[in-house]
Amino acid sequence: MNKATIKEKIDASVEGKLRSLYELQLIDSKVDRLRIIRGELPLEVQDLEDTVAQLETRFENYSKESADLEHQVAEKTQAIKDHKANIKKYEGQLAKVKNNREYDAITKEVEFQNLEIQLCEKRVKEYKALIAQKEEFLLSAEKDLKDKKKDLKAKKAELEEIIEETEKEEQDLIKKSAKKSKETEPRLLNAYTRVRGNMINGLAVVPVERDACGGCFSKIPPQRQLDIKTHKKVIVCEHCGRILVDPDLVASEN
Ligand SMILES: [Zn+2]
Repeated sequence: MNKATIKEKIDASVEGKLRSLYELQLIDSKVDRLRIIRGELPLEVQDLEDTVAQLETRFENYSKESADLEHQVAEKTQAIKDHKANIKKYEGQLAKVKNNREYDAITKEVEFQNLEIQLCEKRVKEYKALIAQKEEFLLSAEKDLKDKKKDLKAKKAELEEIIEETEKEEQDLIKKSAKKSKETEPRLLNAYTRVRGNMINGLAVVPVERDACGGCFSKIPPQRQLDIKTHKKVIVCEHCGRILVDPDLVASEN
C-alpha cells in the first residue's frame, strides 16, 4: 500500500465518522424537538387554567355583589312600605287635630316621610341599574367560562395524547441514539457530547447553510467550505466550536 492509498483510506474513514456523528445529531435533535413540544403544551394548559380560575373568581365576586344589591333593594322597598304606613297613620291623626300647632307638626312629619320615600326610590333605581349591569356581565362571563372550560378539557386531552405518543417515539429515538453512539468514534463522541451540552439548542454538528455555519450563522471562507465538503478532516466553526459538515453528508429523510 503506498502513501496515497493509506491517506485515502484515512480520509474515507473521517467521512464515515462524520456521517455517523451527523446521524447521531439528527436523532438527538428529534428527541430535543419532542421535548420542546411536550414542554410547551403544559404551559398552554397552565395559562388556560389560570384564565378559568380568574374568571371564576370574578364570577363569584359579581354574583355576591349582585346578591348584596338585591338585599339592599329589598330593604329599601320595605322602608318605603313603612314610610307609607306612617303617612297613613299621620293622615288619620290629622282628622283629630285640636289646634294649628299640632296640624303643622303632623304635616311636617308627613313631608319628612315623603322625602324619605323619594330617597329610597332613588336608591332602589340606582341599585337596580347596578344589578342589571352585573347580570349582563354574569351572562357573558358564564358563556366565556363555559367556552374556556371546554378549551381546557380539549387541551388536556391533547396533552395526554401527545405525551403518550411522544414518549413512545422518544424511547425509540433514545435507543437509536445509543446504538449510533456506539458506532461513533469515542473521541469524536466526547467532543460532540461536550459541545452539545454547551449549546442551548443542543446542536453540535451543523451543516453549512448559505455559506455560513448552521449553528451561529458566521460566514465561512470559500477555501474552508471546500475542506468541509471533502470531509477529509474534522473542521469546527471558528466562532462557536460546532463541527461543520456538508448538508449532503446524510441522505436527507429529515
Ligand atoms: Zn458557528
